[in-house]
Amino acid sequence: MIFHLNLGPDPDTRRRQLASLIRAGKIKLGGYKKNKIYGLLNCASGKGMKVENRVFFKDENEALQAGYRPCARCLREAYKMWKLTH
Ligand SMILES: [Zn+2]
Repeated sequence: MIFHLNLGPDPDTRRRQLASLIRAGKIKLGGYKKNKIYGLLNCASGKGMKVENRVFFKDENEALQAGYRPCARCLREAYKMWKLTH
């Protein structure tokens, strides 16, 4: 799990760092620290999120292991599966 704020000291650096990690395949999902929800990087639910609450994951496994649950909006199927087991 990567905290957005750990990607750099200012928004420009963080944006560049994030873009390169996505290109490298090291970040595929985003997460909301407060509610422990993860979802797609382009999920509408994540847009207004404060930077200090945003985290990133390389895959679903990593998100689940960190105790995050799938977003009901952009990961409906994964969310339904998660609900069955929780
Ligand atoms: Zn979502």
